[in-house]
Amino acid sequence: MINPSKSGRAGPRIRQEQRTIDAMLGIYCQDHHGGGRGLCDDCEQLRLYAHQRLNACPFQEQKPVCNRCEVHCYSPSRRERVRDVMRYAGPRMPLRHPWLALLHMLDKLRRVPSLAPLRARTKRGAAADSGAGGEKRSKP
Ligand SMILES: [Zn+2]
Repeated sequence: MINPSKSGRAGPRIRQEQRTIDAMLGIYCQDHHGGGRGLCDDCEQLRLYAHQRLNACPFQEQKPVCNRCEVHCYSPSRRERVRDVMRYAGPRMPLRHPWLALLHMLDKLRRVPSLAPLRARTKRGAAADSGAGGEKRSKP
């Protein structure tokens, strides 16, 4: 486990991703499973799983959008289902959740980080944090 935040308190980036997956699942479930309010059991399971994976994401605030990430943290079957959900809900997001969709578009422009320097850094301790291009620094 390389998860730096053991408190389980996710940063804004992760929370936004969680809202996005919630919204996408909402769209998908409503149109496929006809649930009036809330998600059906299957989709709720998938939602909880996605939230867990996000909480455990080694990139946390540097997280790229999931489909460009080099870490495949989903189990194959869940991954397949989430991909379905995103394929369906993705194009519908701007209509139903314009703000989240916009944020997600912006996230797609992020540089995709690699795990290699992240591993090196955690090994060395979080002392030297330079060399990352200096584009973003947010320390709690
Ligand atoms: Zn459903």
